[in-house]
Amino acid sequence: KQTSSIKTVNPYNNELVKEFAPMTDIELTAIIDKADIAFNTWRKTPFEERAKIIHNVASLMRARKEELGKLATLEMGKLISESIYEVELSADIFDYYADKAAELLADKPLEVKNGEAFISYEPIGTILSIQPWNFPYYQITRSAASNLMAGNTMLLKHASNVPQCAQLMEDLFLEAGLPKNVYNNIFIPGRETEKLVLNPKIKAVSLTGSEPAGASIASAAGAKAKKATLELGGSDPFIVLEDVDIDLAVKTAVEGRMWNAGQVCVSPKRVIVPDKMKEEFLTKVKDVFATLKVGDPMNKDTNVAPLSSEAAAAIVIAQINKAAQQNATIVMGGKRMDRKGAFVEPTIITDITPEMDAYQEEIFGPVFMLYSYKDIDEAVTIANATTFGLGGTVFGNNIKKAVEVARQIDTGMVYINHVTGIAPELPFGGTKNSGFGREQGPMGIYEFVNEKLIRTT
Ligand code: NAP
Repeated sequence: KQTSSIKTVNPYNNELVKEFAPMTDIELTAIIDKADIAFNTWRKTPFEERAKIIHNVASLMRARKEELGKLATLEMGKLISESIYEVELSADIFDYYADKAAELLADKPLEVKNGEAFISYEPIGTILSIQPWNFPYYQITRSAASNLMAGNTMLLKHASNVPQCAQLMEDLFLEAGLPKNVYNNIFIPGRETEKLVLNPKIKAVSLTGSEPAGASIASAAGAKAKKATLELGGSDPFIVLEDVDIDLAVKTAVEGRMWNAGQVCVSPKRVIVPDKMKEEFLTKVKDVFATLKVGDPMNKDTNVAPLSSEAAAAIVIAQINKAAQQNATIVMGGKRMDRKGAFVEPTIITDITPEMDAYQEEIFGPVFMLYSYKDIDEAVTIANATTFGLGGTVFGNNIKKAVEVARQIDTGMVYINHVTGIAPELPFGGTKNSGFGREQGPMGIYEFVNEKLIRTT
């Protein structure tokens, strides 16, 4: 029997749980045709009705948060507390757009010399949304809540290792009262997804994932003159200013870096401290690392989970080994753990210089990279040295000074005294090779609408 790439493998013990067959071209075309037809009705459904359904989705998620949480932990290994938090966050995002869409998409008058002019915000049709596994529900939500409230229909192609979470979300939408064919889960391997962009009934595409996947999907969309938004990787700087409470900065940076076993696009991947603070900071980071409990992600006491798969763990180990070969210092960890499952030791790396690959690369695992600077200009230079531009943090007691530094960082988001965060009402997205476009917040709903001018004279 041929094995499918679409399957649940529990990364805690590497056991195969369930496999799914990819959909055939005929099945996929039929889904797109039906989504296109459903658009004609959904676009005319009043905001209040759409809002009622989307609020129902939020309520169902909250009511079933334990079950949904366990499924995410089973499929991609994150800590159960993080999975449940993610379900609650997703419910909040559905509520946000259900409450706000009518106001955000109300006609917007423009000042004109005579007559009237206004912008009418209109949905554009079926959107192809391609999402990664690291937040199995939140990633769907970010894309679905705004698009469905705007009146678009959608196809959701989730990562191949979280098929049950993907299927469960489609079931939840239907249970919440969403008409059939408005939201469609599709099973298709990533490398074959590009062909869907060629279908004229797919009007736009949104991808969150790696740079290569983003580049290939955006070029396919470009070739057909379709809009794309990309939310790609990141290597967020975390700049520590001199006046901080070191313990709090260490705690925040380590917790941020270990979040989701380090597999977060906006995790503080490069911590940048003043030269004179480096030794003390490193000692404190080691102390916190020594208290970390690696283990079963279903166990509430565990604070470092396995990575999402064997393949993910192998990539992180290869990156660490390369850093060591290139003469970076591996202060702690650096190896696979001597146990079943996709575990990588929590790792600290220092002495990373610009010629090393680690200086540029995103490391998607529990790897804490520490840099130091002599003055703020150097801190900003290090922060801006990668091709990524997603999020970042400035940690300091003087907020005015921290904001001044934040303005100099070339990313889409900077948080003061907090790792790059997520909230329904705040936009999320990057610049440089971290992509373009925004999801969440007021801005997220305008990406896939036609901002149509209507002018009367
Ligand atoms: P990935 O390989 O690019 O996978 C992401 C999604 O794209 C999956 O659904 C995947 O499907 C699909 N895919 C892969 N190759 C494709 C192709 N050629 N054409 C179309 N779709 C394709 O990403 P990953 O490495 O698993 O995910 C981690 C990356 O996502 C990291 O770089 C992380 O920083 C980034 N990320 C960014 C954000 C953000 O908001 N900026 C949020 C979360 C994660 P298959 O699983 O079937 O291959």
